[in-house]
Amino acid sequence: MRLCVVSYHSSPLAPVGAGKSGGMSIVIRNLYRGLAQSFDVDIFVRGDGPICQMGPRFRIIHVDRRDSYEFAEEIMRHHSKHQYGLIHTHYWLSGAIGLLTHGLLKIPWLHTLHTVEILKTIPRDKARIEVEEEIVRSCDLVVSPTSQEMYAIKKLYPDVQVITIPHGVDVRRFTPSQNGHSDILFVGRIEPIKGLHVLIDALRYLKRDIRLTVIGGQSKDDINLSDIKSYAAGLEVEFKGQVNHQELREHYHRTGMLVVPSYYESFGLVGLEAMASARPVVGFVHTGLRETIGNDAGILVNMNTRNLARAINTLASDARLRQRLGNNGRKKALRYDWSNVVRQYRRMYEKIIEE
Ligand code: UDP
Repeated sequence: MRLCVVSYHSSPLAPVGAGKSGGMSIVIRNLYRGLAQSFDVDIFVRGDGPICQMGPRFRIIHVDRRDSYEFAEEIMRHHSKHQYGLIHTHYWLSGAIGLLTHGLLKIPWLHTLHTVEILKTIPRDKARIEVEEEIVRSCDLVVSPTSQEMYAIKKLYPDVQVITIPHGVDVRRFTPSQNGHSDILFVGRIEPIKGLHVLIDALRYLKRDIRLTVIGGQSKDDINLSDIKSYAAGLEVEFKGQVNHQELREHYHRTGMLVVPSYYESFGLVGLEAMASARPVVGFVHTGLRETIGNDAGILVNMNTRNLARAINTLASDARLRQRLGNNGRKKALRYDWSNVVRQYRRMYEKIIEE
């Protein structure tokens, strides 16, 4: 059986942690590498270049077409040759391609939103909300990484079919180590919704000097990294820029905790990476972190700068607590190993294809 996967705007081959390339690329790489043991997988990505053979049954197909109709036609061309069993679109821009191929392909259509515009707590893009609504109403199944998000989608669109399968983590790449540090780490694309400025504000309320290491590059033009840097002037903040995903593990080892000050986080892969590394996570309770971190692998608080600072202070002054919450996180992270997540996807795809 051959799967058609669409990742229109970001290539899983691109370096992660800046620009458009973030958690979704990590998810697509790991998920389909695993699924290519059981299925033939074609991933359609916008861009020029030859077909990239990632493994015996795993290809990335570059489509050099800006126009959505032409992009969709290219998928149809491949379908007439390979007869895909299903199509899975990732993110709304790929979902928009799904809207064009749906009805022509006559195969099941699954969609993962990755971020749900209407659920964001900062100013939202109205046009995108409308397109996302059309996508979830038209596809056969929405796949969501948290049950919190699944219920939110069900509440908004009661007739839509949604299931939850979490994202995963590579527990052999991210391994535990002794937590001998009180410093803090931020990992993520730098854009307003990730709340780095809230964390910088929180540093001013800390009881003692705690070093913050910031990993990640600028994501969009609507934030200027040099403004953020000058905002942090005089504080113990080191900006490392984008770091190769393979090298991140050392950074988790060198920190006492990960802080995720995001206003909105559909899932928050970095939280899971910190858990696998036995590092507690501080963040906001209304985000997707609630489902992975819970109340025993870090401290999640109501969104407010002082609450964030209090949680950081608590962990910074208690090495045993950091170690205990970190160890709990590691134990929980093992459940999210990609092999488990791939198994859940495989079962779901097989069931859909059988039906
Ligand atoms: N990341 C990375 N290098 C960086 C910054 C981030 O490899 O410099 C990775 C990080 O390890 C995580 C992903 O980018 O796997 C971010 O995923 P997350 O779900 O936290 O945020 P998203 O980008 O999806 O909003």
